Amino acid sequence: MNDGLLRRLPSVDELLRSDALKEAYSSCSHAVIAEAARETISAIRAEINSNGRSEVSLQEIIALTEGRINACLRPSVQRVINATGAVLHTNMGRAVLSRSAADAVALAARNHTNLELDIETGERGQRDNHVEGLLKRLTGAEAACVVNNNAAAVFITLNTLAAGKEVIISRGELVEIGGSFRLHEIIGKSGCVLKEVGAANRTHPHDYAQALTPQTALLFKAHKSNFTVAGFTAEVGLKELVAIGRASSLPGVEPLRVVEDLGSGSLVDLSAYGLPKEPVVGERLLAGADIVTFSGDKLLGGPQAGLICGKKELIKRINENPLKRVLRADKLTIAALEATLRLYLNKATLSETLPSLKYMTRTVDELDMAAQKAAALLKAALGDGFIVTVEDSESVIGGGSMPGHNLPAKVVAITHEEMSATRIYRMFLANDPPIAGRVNNDSFLLDMRTVERPEDVVPSGR
Ligand SMILES: *Cc1c(COP(=O)(O)O)cnc(C)c1O
Repeated sequence: MNDGLLRRLPSVDELLRSDALKEAYSSCSHAVIAEAARETISAIRAEINSNGRSEVSLQEIIALTEGRINACLRPSVQRVINATGAVLHTNMGRAVLSRSAADAVALAARNHTNLELDIETGERGQRDNHVEGLLKRLTGAEAACVVNNNAAAVFITLNTLAAGKEVIISRGELVEIGGSFRLHEIIGKSGCVLKEVGAANRTHPHDYAQALTPQTALLFKAHKSNFTVAGFTAEVGLKELVAIGRASSLPGVEPLRVVEDLGSGSLVDLSAYGLPKEPVVGERLLAGADIVTFSGDKLLGGPQAGLICGKKELIKRINENPLKRVLRADKLTIAALEATLRLYLNKATLSETLPSLKYMTRTVDELDMAAQKAAALLKAALGDGFIVTVEDSESVIGGGSMPGHNLPAKVVAITHEEMSATRIYRMFLANDPPIAGRVNNDSFLLDMRTVERPEDVVPSGR
């Protein structure tokens, strides 16, 4: 330990009185600066005590304090260049909003709005009214409502329609999404009794029929969002499930309901855009589902939200559940969702106006052209030791959409004579703004699918 060095450390007060930190006062309050000074001095003291430091200057202390102040002022949420190829990456905020949705958010954020004010009557209105009409039109549903996310949509639907009763679901559909959403846990928390039927790979109509008791309230179907079952499989389709429900409903008793959780449900048939078909909400309602739930920020391409479409009487009961107040969508969400849904009124321009669809429909030729441009820029910028090529690859959609269906792509592949692919990955992430690529075997890959300009993936340094 170096007592002389410790004695020479300024006190926090001395540091705060020095002219050097004066400038910081224009951007933050005294408490922030004082805390940074305290932390800096105590960190240096600890280093001296552990013999990790043999000298220290006032200049250095001031610089370190300013560094802490700046770190405190820097926004935590920042723009990230998503070059992973995943259009709906949960770690990067899923769907990018359209221009009109972003404008709608800004308008709702900076002004008072008619969120719950009925302009015509002057009375209190319902916030969901701003989107219910559009959802009805786009799905053919009798009614619709909105909550905070799809997990909440499943939760409130189950709680409203089946609390204290049994919910029957196939073992092949008890999905887990992103680690924190496990369907069987949500069913348990919603106050329902989960009754699993069938086997992991095969479930038959008689499995459901045999499981029915007077306690059964719901037949539940979940979209297998992030996995596929291959080989010896059997699944009971929605239509069959609806038929089972209708056949076993007794007169005078509330009929058995069929609820489908689509997760990434789409409002348009993606096969019309040359993409793999994903369940279309309107088609599932036509097939007889009483309620369909899906996310706002997956294939829909809007803000985080949970959408519930279906029978009027059931939506009314969901709206009357006190949990609706707990789980309601906020004003920014409502604004973004309304603007996103309006884009669907013009299907001809949707693949230009809706960023997710624009990204998903990028052709291999377009991706190749962008990758070639990026590769040329990267070759010049990265310098010796790096090997930059353009290779065939595949993009994953992400967000629990299109499991097992990757989209063909061309990507920039980067390797280095000495650096591992993981180190290159970290190096790109350390850029300002961070550039997120992916590591595949020994290469670091940059997929241009969701990147606006080739120069965006060229590190500029921090
Ligand atoms: C994604 C997903 C959910 C959860 O939706 P969030 O919007 O993330 O809350 C629930 N069920 C399925 C089938 C999903 O794919």
